Amino acid sequence: MNVCLLTSGGDSQGMNSCLSELSKQLHKSNHKVFASMGGYQGLVRNQIRRIDSKEFENISHLGGSVLKCFRCPEFATKEGLQQSLQALKQYKIDAVIAIGGDGTFRGANRLSQNGIKVIGIPGTIDNDLTYTDFTLGYDSAVNNAVHFIDDVKETLSSSNRIGLFEVMGRNCNDIAVATAFATSADHAILDKENFDYKALVDKLRSLIWEGVESPCVIVRENILDIFDLAAKLQRDMKTECRANVLGYLQRGGRPSLNDRILARKFAIHAVKLLDEDKHGLAVGQVNDMVVAVPIGSAHNINNRRPNEVLSLIST
Ligand code: ADP
Repeated sequence: MNVCLLTSGGDSQGMNSCLSELSKQLHKSNHKVFASMGGYQGLVRNQIRRIDSKEFENISHLGGSVLKCFRCPEFATKEGLQQSLQALKQYKIDAVIAIGGDGTFRGANRLSQNGIKVIGIPGTIDNDLTYTDFTLGYDSAVNNAVHFIDDVKETLSSSNRIGLFEVMGRNCNDIAVATAFATSADHAILDKENFDYKALVDKLRSLIWEGVESPCVIVRENILDIFDLAAKLQRDMKTECRANVLGYLQRGGRPSLNDRILARKFAIHAVKLLDEDKHGLAVGQVNDMVVAVPIGSAHNINNRRPNEVLSLIST
């Protein structure tokens, strides 16, 4: 088969590890490997090229994606889809393996509905795909966040400052919850509707009164402006408060051990499925087992809040 690889949406650590293993397994199974540059943009703009068995050999340890990861609204249009199908036809591509998040899976599903064999691999730091316990990049992103917060807490504690840390996750709390738990944060703000400024001030005051010299608060992105919040807290509590937005710090750098293992497992399973002529599926992991579900149902996103962890941090 001629198989085209692409990475799409936001980049995440583990995408390159997965590409490397996919190339290895596909070549081993005598498939011809192609790649689309910049996700679906490469299909729409006919930027597809052949990948030889050596090209992805030494990229497993790199963050980001060597194929680049663009967002491509044109692909979601009728014309964009037709141009993509044309390009795939030109290279006689039978199958596409798409690594990305829920949007990427919606796109892959459209290809599947138009006769292309597709396999989706979950790659997003947000961990917001319902059908899988973990997505590629989540573990690395949490590790990066924890590392950064540990370091900044050292300096905050030297001058008894309150620390606010905004982490990514779009609308999913998984990164925030895991980061808050791992850094022993004193509070986590996970919900816009139920955010109560007065209750936060009361809590920080009582923590300081109890002897916590530098309380640490984790804030999930898309809830509030943490620089405004820091200024208000500093004014009302008369204690210095520092806001830190972790942003892309979470997305860069080497993939973690867990992401590299997951990437390899997903890649091996994806190629096995194609070899068995099974497609229209997204691979994932549930209770340590690799699973495959119909890609048309794999793009559901949710906001998991692991109850056992949430009960241990106060919200
Ligand atoms: P992610 O895959 O991380 O969720 P996006 O939501 O930005 O990222 O989606 C990535 C790409 O997938 C989009 O730029 C677009 O090319 C494609 N895509 C998203 N939604 C659809 C859709 N409903 N139909 C077709 N393609 C889509």
